Amino acid sequence: MRKIGIMGGTFDPIHIGHLLLARCAMEEVGLDEVWFVPTGCSYMKKDREMVSPQERFQMTELALLGNDRMKCLDMEIKREGETYSYETLETLRREYPEDAFYFIFGADCLFTIETWKYPERIFAAASVIAAVRNEMPLEDMAAKIEQLKNRFGARITLLPFLHLEISSTDIRRRVRDGRSIRYLVPDNVIAYIEEKGFYRNEE
Ligand code: ATP
Ligand code: MG
Repeated sequence: MRKIGIMGGTFDPIHIGHLLLARCAMEEVGLDEVWFVPTGCSYMKKDREMVSPQERFQMTELALLGNDRMKCLDMEIKREGETYSYETLETLRREYPEDAFYFIFGADCLFTIETWKYPERIFAAASVIAAVRNEMPLEDMAAKIEQLKNRFGARITLLPFLHLEISSTDIRRRVRDGRSIRYLVPDNVIAYIEEKGFYRNEE
């Protein structure tokens, strides 16, 4: 049985926060692999869509080049219409019945997951690894985890993680403002962003 981490996200663009989170979860929980799953047309982020799912997938693939324990799956970007985490996790469970899946996300998601589609099916299909993100008070997170355990029988591990003030939103702003994103985003991804002219005219 392999232990496989699943990193969902928009990855618009992927940055070192995502990569370090995957590596940290791998080390702390003893995962064999981490699979990144870029979202298709996310219903949660409908307001802005200039970089296509295929291009976000491409950036994620570039970021993972040469890492044989991390890869990028195109299952959500290939699906028609909305994509939901519960479907992805249930599909993976069906395709890889021998393996155990760990859904990795930033602790900010603990506070929104009840608004996602079928949270109970997400928690049934995978354990959750929630990384402490930014200065979120520990008591608040512990209380939220207790509540999700009671309500859904969720299996949740809190992952101590660096406080990295990095987000894709910040990266997009930097590009728009003509500031450098070197060391925040892998070099080959920066080259791709420049070549395609992404984020220069962000809101
Ligand atoms: P955006 O600013 O567009 O929301 P993002 O940086 O939050 O982008 P997403 O693609 O939305 O990136 O996030 C994918 C996952 O990575 C989420 O679970 C999110 O919580 C987590 N994540 C992103 N950045 C960090 C960070 N700096 N520290 C911890 N977790 C992070
Ligand atoms: Mg986000």
